[in-house]
Amino acid sequence: MNPSPSLKGQAALVTGADSGIGKGVAMALASAGAKLVINYAHNHDAAEATVNEITAAGGEAFAVQADVSHEDQVKEMFAQMFAKYGTIDILVNNAGLQKDSKFVDMTLEDWNTVISINLTGQFLCSREATKEFIRRGVIEDRSSAAGKIICMSSVHEVIPWGGHVNYAASKGGISMFMKSIAQELAPHKIRVVGIGPGAIQTPINKSAWDTPEALDKLLTLIPYNRIGKPDDIGKLAAWLASDQADYITGTTIFMDGGMTLYPGFADNG
Ligand code: NAD
Repeated sequence: MNPSPSLKGQAALVTGADSGIGKGVAMALASAGAKLVINYAHNHDAAEATVNEITAAGGEAFAVQADVSHEDQVKEMFAQMFAKYGTIDILVNNAGLQKDSKFVDMTLEDWNTVISINLTGQFLCSREATKEFIRRGVIEDRSSAAGKIICMSSVHEVIPWGGHVNYAASKGGISMFMKSIAQELAPHKIRVVGIGPGAIQTPINKSAWDTPEALDKLLTLIPYNRIGKPDDIGKLAAWLASDQADYITGTTIFMDGGMTLYPGFADNG
């Protein structure tokens, strides 16, 4: 049995791949042999830096600007991908952000922004990918599946999070979105899987790890006693997208150093 997942010859699109977890996922998929579309919202230079890292390592990638919450921009991004690679085999719905506030102070604008990007963005990208997966079907020597969709969720699809109600609602929504399309699309040989990261060291949560005091406080929530790295999630995504995970669909894999184990109860018995 081959110990490393192979994605040789497969075309992958990672949203929000210019930073953090998305970049880690893009690098891992590329090192498993996939050719990449590096989606980004605003930071062209960061997206080109990701492309350059992949090509310098012998991989293939190009960057496409698109706001995943805008239907026309998502359609144009897929058109650019199909013009270059002809098809799509792997979609990683990773783009996401936080707009935090106390619930009573939360503006409709901040609610809508988070839901539009974190949840509606996954709907728009998944629908475009699915049309192509169904049109093309399985290609025998490439993958056992007609397509793979990975939905970046969070431990906050199950852990409530006061002060972040829009974010937690978006991730809870991703859970049921992911399961429902997995159920509907399995007969088409399309696999849909969620990843639920715990605390991963990226710009989105910088204030939770950028001082020793903040990191110590964060580690009280993580039984395994270390913060996660984008590469941890990258390796999981590459494995989930490969045929080694061919019988996995419709579930979220939590990668969180035990954050979902209710660590506050560890010495409470
Ligand atoms: P990050 O801020 O480094 O990256 C977020 C990415 O989303 C960026 O590449 C950004 O360009 C992109 N993005 C934002 N709005 C966009 C839009 N409208 N269109 C396209 N792209 C857009 O943060 P991260 O930690 O790497 O977050 C990536 C994903 O992982 C998010 O969905 C986040 O909710 C999830 N997540 C992160 C953690 C963590 O601890 N870092 C934990 C759980 C889940």
